[in-house]
Amino acid sequence: MLLVEGLTYRYRGAPAALQFPDLRAGQGSQMLLRGASGSGKSTLLALLAGLLTAASGRLQVGSADLRQLTARQADAWRGRELGFVPQRLHLSPGLDVLHNLALPYVAAGQAVDHARVQDLLDRLGLQACAHRRPHQLSLGQAQRVALARAVLRRPRVVLADEPTAHLDDATTAAVLKLLAELASSEHATLVIATHDARVAQVLQQAQVWQLAAPSELESLP
Ligand code: ADP
Ligand code: MG
Repeated sequence: MLLVEGLTYRYRGAPAALQFPDLRAGQGSQMLLRGASGSGKSTLLALLAGLLTAASGRLQVGSADLRQLTARQADAWRGRELGFVPQRLHLSPGLDVLHNLALPYVAAGQAVDHARVQDLLDRLGLQACAHRRPHQLSLGQAQRVALARAVLRRPRVVLADEPTAHLDDATTAAVLKLLAELASSEHATLVIATHDARVAQVLQQAQVWQLAAPSELESLP
């Protein structure tokens, strides 16, 4: 379940609040989040992930009524339900790929599922990178590690910010296959910010969630 109603966010010092279009979508829905650069896609994903606090509006993501949760409750909810692939990848710089992929299990107090980790490394063509640290990865490799980390524990909601931006056709196909499988096996909800036509082609059930262009017109005299 995804419910967005009257949602706004205001950056400190910004002249105006960002406003987001309402949305109501059932569990298992797939959304392509579109909008010009600066329209608020990354901000909206951070709101949906409970990482930013809305100025107003209603915000229900999966089982969470995010505006009612404390920071601690939001953390716990993210660990249980959410896979988040931010635009700026947040891999831990001091840890190699394998240890980065162990973190979600450690954070959840679970044993690392090594078979699952190996399967994702295989599928995303990352075996050769297993013992490298993030600074030794290409952007595309880092993007795939971030995606692997987000889907490891089979979350029911996946939010991804331009997840195929640095990927060639073959790795894009592998990433999309993984997302499509998660959507079908877990009945996961997907929200993917992307302009990549390859994504729309594969996720054919996806509906477009269009953000308004940043309001240049309003600032004209
Ligand atoms: P998009 O992902 O669609 O390019 P963003 O969500 O990154 O858009 O940004 C939306 C608007 O908020 C832009 O005008 C951007 O400049 C502004 N913005 C983004 N991050 C910050 C920040 N940390 N502080 C102030 N303004 C920000
Ligand atoms: Mg962005």
